[in-house]
Amino acid sequence: VNIAIIGAGFAGLATAWHLLTNSSIKITIFDAKGIGGGASGIAAGLLHPYAGVHSKLNQLGRVGMEAALDLIKVASQALQQPVISNQGILRLALTQEQKIDFAECAQKNADVQWLNSHECQTLFPALTKEPGIWIKEGCAINSALYLQGLWQACQNKGAGLEKITVSSLQQLDNFDVIIVAAGAHALVFPELASYSFSTIKGQILELKWPQELPPLPFVLNSHAYLVMQSPTRCLVGATFERKYQTEAPDLQTAQEEIMPKAIALIPGLQSAKIMGCQAGVRLVTPSRSPLVERIGKKHWVITGLGSKGLLYHAYYAKQLADQVLKES
Ligand SMILES: Cc1cc2nc3c(=O)[nH]c(=O)nc-3n(C[C@H](O)[C@H](O)[C@H](O)COP(=O)(O)OP(=O)(O)OC[C@H]3O[C@@H](n4cnc5c(N)ncnc54)[C@H](O)[C@@H]3O)c2cc1C
Repeated sequence: VNIAIIGAGFAGLATAWHLLTNSSIKITIFDAKGIGGGASGIAAGLLHPYAGVHSKLNQLGRVGMEAALDLIKVASQALQQPVISNQGILRLALTQEQKIDFAECAQKNADVQWLNSHECQTLFPALTKEPGIWIKEGCAINSALYLQGLWQACQNKGAGLEKITVSSLQQLDNFDVIIVAAGAHALVFPELASYSFSTIKGQILELKWPQELPPLPFVLNSHAYLVMQSPTRCLVGATFERKYQTEAPDLQTAQEEIMPKAIALIPGLQSAKIMGCQAGVRLVTPSRSPLVERIGKKHWVITGLGSKGLLYHAYYAKQLADQVLKES
């Protein structure tokens, strides 16, 4: 069965990998920008089942996490190097509402530990004096590296890549099955015009870590998040912009929105130098659950991963691949 996948982000590559478990499948991936050219390539890589301001266990959070970790292993093996960059996530509770929500999260979930402000500062003395929760199993991956590894694993099973823009699904009519995994740009296809989605631009800053601070040894996440990329570089995110003029990075908006939140977590970041800014667009469905379904005789879609693409991509890609294999 000859299958075309439009999009080489989390959704497209994970779907390709799961389909390739069947040896009669031939996959060609089409991506205008190459591997990880969309939101996936710039994602901060946070992975834990308690995403969101209230830190509630996400729907499918545990199975999503398990499925994602399986694919992370596949990517690491293909590259012969780890793609997890940081293990452990500390979520600081800055507001009264967060303190209540986070304490409840720790009470309900055995893998989450409540830490008082002193215990948090023992983990990293430069933190503001607030309590929080420690999510031991939470981690951050290097997203670009993960995508390279997953692509390498797909390539090892015979997948091909064409770096072109697909302007209509009819262009791929010679394929038996066509899967749209085009992220926020799935909206350009008329076959998806009847669905209602919203788009949210996200920007992320790269900071030069101040010399006077030791490197942060875990992921820090509250109203903003911080993920060390190396002992001297840190990603800080992210913006949630419902109204925006351009998909391109806009440093001023990103700086104004992100830096005060980061400084509220670590006051010593006041002196941090901004080295870069990247932007992507998240596609969100009204239910906030991904859209994974058949949209035509041989057309399928997987999109709407919102801000939890890493948590949900592997699980939903497996569901889609199983369905495609069953019905093709
Ligand atoms: C700043 C930011 C930080 C984020 N951080 C996290 C995080 O820490 N953890 C997390 O779980 N999620 C995070 N997310 C969300 C996550 O990035 C998305 O949910 C996820 O990347 C969506 O994956 P996707 O494969 O659906 O889309 P994309 O990654 O956007 O992939 C779509 C691909 O399709 C290609 N494409 C589109 N149209 C066409 C066409 N017509 N022809 C050819 N190719 C086409 C694009 O070039 C692109 O490569 C973040 C998002 C942003 C913006």
